[in-house]
Amino acid sequence: MNSTIAIDIRLRDLVSRLDVAPQRFHRYRVQKPRPTIKELLLPLFIQVGSSTTLRADSLGFWRLGDERYWLPRFVFQRTQVVKPRITIGVFAGVHGDEPAGVLGLIDFLRDLDMNPELGRDFQLWIYPLCNPSGYVDGTRHSRAGKDLNREFWKDSPEPEVKLIEEEIRRRKFDGIISLHSDDTSDGVYGFVRGATLTKHLLAPALAAAEHALPRNKNDHIDGFYAIEGIIHSGYGGILSAPPDQHPAPFEIVLETPHLAPMELQQKAFLLALEAILSEYRRLISYAADI
Ligand SMILES: [Zn+2]
Repeated sequence: MNSTIAIDIRLRDLVSRLDVAPQRFHRYRVQKPRPTIKELLLPLFIQVGSSTTLRADSLGFWRLGDERYWLPRFVFQRTQVVKPRITIGVFAGVHGDEPAGVLGLIDFLRDLDMNPELGRDFQLWIYPLCNPSGYVDGTRHSRAGKDLNREFWKDSPEPEVKLIEEEIRRRKFDGIISLHSDDTSDGVYGFVRGATLTKHLLAPALAAAEHALPRNKNDHIDGFYAIEGIIHSGYGGILSAPPDQHPAPFEIVLETPHLAPMELQQKAFLLALEAILSEYRRLISYAADI
């Protein structure tokens, strides 16, 4: 066993026993070869083949030289009974060098399929790999050299952005969640925008994620003013609802500390996503009873 992996496992044991996570992670980074896109997604497609709650397809294809790239899409619905549902889009891998969100979303899909009650009342549209060429290259940017998370709603010609923009416009999601990792942060935090209830979803999500990783409680994170790990502003051009969508959906960007052990980042995403679903369901049913 590689010694860095051994350290990682000891750290995980420590964290799970004490239910507290260490404050700094840079010494524990595990360098493992990344799986190829096929290695990453094939087990999931096999699972979808025998699932009654999941289906999978592609949002579209494009060519880069001799290679063909595609944007995988998964849809979760607990039963096939036709009824109105809350639709949420969840996106990961917009930055190609942030695999935690990709792996976290794959875990989330598996968890939903095994425990469909988690997703009761929802139709979940899940896009785990939004920048496949960046993932293959291990780079933040796409192979075209673009930070895709600065390109949205600016008439960008990038194929990934165009496909995702069309999809977001078509679906008119009630909520949009994006998963990212930040190598300058020692803890989990998030951005809120859109509907005013959004911060009431992010707060319980961060509390849930704290069972895996600490929260970043700094006053300033990534150059923004933050309160208890919640930032109310953000960058322009990020993956988001169209500026003219009314009513505005809730929009959350979740960030894990990029240098923390991968499995803890995946767990943090899983806990946060499940907390958002249960809290949103609770808020909506409460509103309906008023
Ligand atoms: Zn990112």
